[in-house]
Amino acid sequence: MKKTFKEKIIFRFTNMARQHKFLKYPCLALLSFILGIYYIGRHFATNGKRYASVAFVIIFFMNSCSFSFAVFAERTGFINAQEAYSAVVEDSDIALAVEKEVNLENQILLDDDDVDAGYDAAEDIEGVDTYTLDDILENQENYQTDDIPSEDSAEEYVFDSSDWRLVLINKQHPIPEDYEFTLGTIKGSMQCDERIISDLLAMLQAAKVDGVNLAICSPYRDLNRQEVLFNKKIKVYMGQGMSYMEAYKLASQAVTVPGASEHQIGLALDIFCDTYTSLDEGFAETEAGKWLAEHSCEYGFTLRYPSGKEYITSIEYEPWHFRYVGKEAATIMKEEGICLEEFWDKYL
Ligand SMILES: [Zn+2]
Repeated sequence: MKKTFKEKIIFRFTNMARQHKFLKYPCLALLSFILGIYYIGRHFATNGKRYASVAFVIIFFMNSCSFSFAVFAERTGFINAQEAYSAVVEDSDIALAVEKEVNLENQILLDDDDVDAGYDAAEDIEGVDTYTLDDILENQENYQTDDIPSEDSAEEYVFDSSDWRLVLINKQHPIPEDYEFTLGTIKGSMQCDERIISDLLAMLQAAKVDGVNLAICSPYRDLNRQEVLFNKKIKVYMGQGMSYMEAYKLASQAVTVPGASEHQIGLALDIFCDTYTSLDEGFAETEAGKWLAEHSCEYGFTLRYPSGKEYITSIEYEPWHFRYVGKEAATIMKEEGICLEEFWDKYL
């Protein structure tokens, strides 16, 4: 009977070891090594087709998927990325910058609010209407909000991870595909999830009673506006000397890749006031900023990107960005000084 490779090799080594006692251990080690290689090789030989198809699927996915578009495509050279995205560039009014060395690691990621920041919100921002508080509250009587939960009842409250108010949207958790909500009108073209409007107006009114005139800027943004902001981000980066490719890559890393913004599901609002109209950290020191930090939870809103939690949210401190989470959760988050990610960790 014909011996297999394995039997042959074992036979040879045992013979050699018998003849030369001192070679016993080196022989054993060499034998194990050769057999190891033999088994690995045989595994790949018999499963070759399987591995080839998996590799094919991965390469196909990486080349056609929008997540890896341009960067991966260029690296592999499967398609000419320059041609592919120049079509995008030529359609828009983005001017290609002269390329020069840019240290990408030191760049600060921009998010949508950063791109909007610095713009005077009192001016008309790209067709988004702005209204005074009196406009928004006109013809309306007293806005009611449910009773603020007492500390005890808030602790007993059982939170449900399927509660729409608590939906977690961040870079790791994009908007669920089946997420549904109905837009309601705050005033004119200003819209947000209709379920939060009464609490929002009650908050504006209560602030007014306390002598603080709040104003809302960019509540709901549709995908279109997200894209406008995304392109604007690319422009800002290119203005700093980056190539389109680098700018695209960096802009994609920011949390608000279209599809990952709370503004898109109508639960987030940027709030400022009549005396301070730019979206920057200075807002925290205004009467309005302080009032919101103190009272927004009573109306179900939470300061979504607090100072000191940047390592969790991966978003810089934004004292103007408020997210509706419901009164129970907002109260707990304020009392315990935790952000939404931490709240999920602890209560859901
Ligand atoms: Zn915002």
